[in-house]
Amino acid sequence: MTIEAQIQELRNELNAYNYKYYVLDESDISDFEFDMKLKTLQELEAKHPEFFDANSPTQRVGGAVTKSFNTVVHDYRMYSLDNSYSKEDLLAWEQRIKKMVDGPVSYTCELKYDGASISITYENGQLLKAVTRGDGVQGDEVTANVKTIKSVPLQLTGDYPERFDIRGEIILPFDGFNKMNESRIEIGEEPYRNPRNTASGSLKLQDSSEVAKRPLECLLYNIIGSNLNITSQIESLEKARAWGFKVPKAAKLASSIDEVFEFINYWGTHRHDLPYETDGVVIKVNSFQQQDELGHTAKAPRWAMAYKFKAEQVSTRLNEITYQVGRTGAITPVANLEPVELAGTTVKRASLHNADQIAKLDIREGDEVYVEKGGEIIPKIIAVDFTKRPTDSIPTQYITHCPECGTELVRQEGEAQHYCPNYNGCKPQIVGRIQHFISRKAMDIDGLGGETVALLVNANLIQNYSDLYALKKEDVLPLERMAEKSADNLIQGIEQSKQVPFERVLYALGIRYVGETVAKKLVKHFKSIEAIAQASEETLVNVDEIGVKIAESVVAFFQSEENNRIIARLKSFGVALQISEDALANQTDTLVGNTFVVSGVFSSVSRDELKKLIEDHGGKVGSSISSKTSYLVAGDKMGPSKRTKAEQLNIPVITEEEFLNMIK
Ligand code: AMP
Ligand code: ZN
Repeated sequence: MTIEAQIQELRNELNAYNYKYYVLDESDISDFEFDMKLKTLQELEAKHPEFFDANSPTQRVGGAVTKSFNTVVHDYRMYSLDNSYSKEDLLAWEQRIKKMVDGPVSYTCELKYDGASISITYENGQLLKAVTRGDGVQGDEVTANVKTIKSVPLQLTGDYPERFDIRGEIILPFDGFNKMNESRIEIGEEPYRNPRNTASGSLKLQDSSEVAKRPLECLLYNIIGSNLNITSQIESLEKARAWGFKVPKAAKLASSIDEVFEFINYWGTHRHDLPYETDGVVIKVNSFQQQDELGHTAKAPRWAMAYKFKAEQVSTRLNEITYQVGRTGAITPVANLEPVELAGTTVKRASLHNADQIAKLDIREGDEVYVEKGGEIIPKIIAVDFTKRPTDSIPTQYITHCPECGTELVRQEGEAQHYCPNYNGCKPQIVGRIQHFISRKAMDIDGLGGETVALLVNANLIQNYSDLYALKKEDVLPLERMAEKSADNLIQGIEQSKQVPFERVLYALGIRYVGETVAKKLVKHFKSIEAIAQASEETLVNVDEIGVKIAESVVAFFQSEENNRIIARLKSFGVALQISEDALANQTDTLVGNTFVVSGVFSSVSRDELKKLIEDHGGKVGSSISSKTSYLVAGDKMGPSKRTKAEQLNIPVITEEEFLNMIK
């Protein structure tokens, strides 16, 4: 086989695997095999730049950085949709249509996805460009970013038209959204508010490799072009599916407006079971010929109508606004509400986000407010019922000083949140930092819980995490509910935490933006706390995957004298602040590119030790079996369902011994 043919074959294979996994949600190849093929292709392409292809599966990882996006005029305008909110609205629409077209009318019913709309052009089966909706006439070209979305085909299959645009919505499923937020919270960043804005924000990121990391999906619903040889909306969906696009299965043909209502009723209740957000149904006249007869208004097609689900909403009294201080000093205003039922739960509190939000809605204590549960995790207040406002109501004055320590708050240019700058003297910050220090993924101190930390701080027994190591049994015994035995456990747990490896200690310090992964990276690169403390911003940024924000935060942390004093104290107590000799000697790259799932009980090592071995040798530990798994390491008493799943996906199941042999 020629090199070119070999490259082409690999591309086809990888495209087919991607399609199976990301569009059909099934798979017949392990992550390991996939990665090996991708690697082979990358190497061949590197050696033979003459066969470069902008749509090769190797391009999905991103890398292209766009400083400013080109404005592109759409070949066909991107219209908006008219909205309806009741069945009466829909019946009136049906009447209007029936006057304008002859014969029976059937409708395609689709869900309305809440994300960022996109128009993608294909030519000869190849993805040519992707453009945001913009103002409908022209939008931003975001091709490099869209190519990183795995469910977007780069190469079509079957009998596709020579050139066409396909339109759809780029969305972030709840699951991926929540995962993104978990890792943000972990490093002390504000979580994203809702999946929709996060999805559209992602499209405008300059660095496409950042986009590649986000679990975005693209759902398609509209083909546009000339000589398409398609006669109806439902047919276009079926064809798009056949060419390799992800077209949602919910779409259905309705032969009457009554069937449309059935669809709406069904999804009105079942929409909460979907993995992503929908805010309504889109009803489209099915026949393209009838669509042509109906045409467009200036703003929207006459042949389509969105039906918006009512957001679940109630009104209740806002009793009090209180302010919370987080571990990083961020202030969050909280609305304390008269308890009320909403979407199956009792709501007592809602986030007010920040000072601007309060000012914008003019929210005051004593107001009757509307509370809604949308894509957000916490309910939010969307408006005030001004007709019910008491005559003696006073405008809300946002606090100027920390409710906990009285320090004047600061608000950085461009930030929405106020902060309490009293890093070392503000109780919730102190307690929060120590609670983070002892948490499971950090120092994992047995026998010490978050509440005890608060008691210790309140009793002035500790001011920072280094003080933990000076605690004696006599100090803690007088604490509430502290028995002889638990005091022993606590002291012992603190002592044992000196064995915790440096990477976890670094994470435990609670440096802003330094999460578990970043801590591992820093430790691998610098090896000791001294080296990290001395590193300049430039040195830090040059480390793989360390960005400017992280670098700034690390430098700022080590500029504080107080922090350096605390670290010196930790060191004097024997806490690990450098990589151990053993660890250094035991790290290899043997397992790079492999993901392991560990299950069951092992005889010569503990499960955590096994996981650490995997990481020390460059492998990844996965939490559940998927086609991304390279090996399942099976111990005693492993659940049978795991084995079945692994067998179904053709993932090798190996024993403890076999694993240990791999890294010998
Ligand atoms: P609106 O933004 O309220 O004017 O609604 C119009 C937008 O709904 C379109 O620009 C699309 O981005 C989006 N949309 C979501 N799902 C669909 C669908 N199934 N069919 C058509 N448009 C949809
Ligand atoms: Zn404070």
